[in-house]
Amino acid sequence: MKRENHTYNFNAGPSALPFEVLVQAQEEFLDYKQSGMSIMEMSHRGAIYEEVHNQAIALIKELWQIPEDYHILFLQGGASLQFSMIPMNFLKAGSPASYVLTGSWSEKALKEAKLLGETTIAGSTKEEKYRRIPSLHELSIPENSSYLHITSNNTIYGTQWMAFPDTGDIPLIADMSSDILCKPIDVSKFSLIYAGAQKNLGPSGVTMVIIKKELLEKATPSLPTMLSYGTYAENNSLYNTPPTFGIYMLKLVMEWVKNKGGVSAIHRQNIEKAQLIYETIDQSYGFYQGHAELGSRSLMNITFTLNTPELEKKFLDEAKKEGFVGLNGHRSVGGCRASTYNALPIESCQALKSFMTRFREQNS
Ligand SMILES: *Cc1c(COP(=O)(O)O)cnc(C)c1O
Repeated sequence: MKRENHTYNFNAGPSALPFEVLVQAQEEFLDYKQSGMSIMEMSHRGAIYEEVHNQAIALIKELWQIPEDYHILFLQGGASLQFSMIPMNFLKAGSPASYVLTGSWSEKALKEAKLLGETTIAGSTKEEKYRRIPSLHELSIPENSSYLHITSNNTIYGTQWMAFPDTGDIPLIADMSSDILCKPIDVSKFSLIYAGAQKNLGPSGVTMVIIKKELLEKATPSLPTMLSYGTYAENNSLYNTPPTFGIYMLKLVMEWVKNKGGVSAIHRQNIEKAQLIYETIDQSYGFYQGHAELGSRSLMNITFTLNTPELEKKFLDEAKKEGFVGLNGHRSVGGCRASTYNALPIESCQALKSFMTRFREQNS
């Protein structure tokens, strides 16, 4: 099966979903497993939906080797609601919440925490236009911090943490919206990981939270029900109606990851994909310039500029004509960005490499 209008989808989010998953969802759409209805039309308390829900959770645990003492939760409100829920639940009086600023999303996370209590900046590369992730020894984390918050991949600037800090007794919390499941990691270093689904997990509308039981026990009591992680943990994320269709799609994406050979196989492919674009930038004699410093380059969002705004515009216009979508940088920083999430086929990167090479030859 093919799409009538083929594109190379480099969108930053929502972004490309695996084509096989879309086909499967289409096949199952009208009549899910001979139930006579769509998965969208079923009760979230029924056996059919519940199986989907639990399989999604089991697959995530299996694929990312998540230890037993963690809950997997599904919420709504995007990663952006997590910016508030985290300090609501875990910022304690007298213990500042520490934030590492590595881009716009970290700034937004900090902004919400500031509304709720005392905060501190444990590290920042803002002065350097967020071209890099601070090295671990540059961080200064107060010993009495309520937690340390980092953004593992900076979607807008195109940088990614390569190693994570050891925070001892201080809970480590990470916004992994744009690189969750792009590589194997040691989940046990983290007390809480969260991600909006629309980059690497599925469609928008679902937020996944991986939370250590030990952290959950320390949560602020008497919060509004829907803003308390405990509500989701105690009810298997079924206290109220969850985003059932989004969770179903997420489950299909997890099955797709498993069929591809799991997260390690996806990681190898991600390295190969990103390499195709980075080498094109590096071998362009300065025609294309990468935004991120070498040691901080993201596997998921490749940011670059051309020498003049006119040339950049020409590049984006011609790319569009050839079927490339989403190559413009974020509206706040401009430039160009190729998002190479898990579901982006390697063929799209090969096509982009040839286009970039051709464009350089014709315009330098
Ligand atoms: C996309 C993104 C967000 C915002 O997610 P929403 O689901 O739109 O709230 C937050 N953090 C990072 C790192 C992102 O990439």
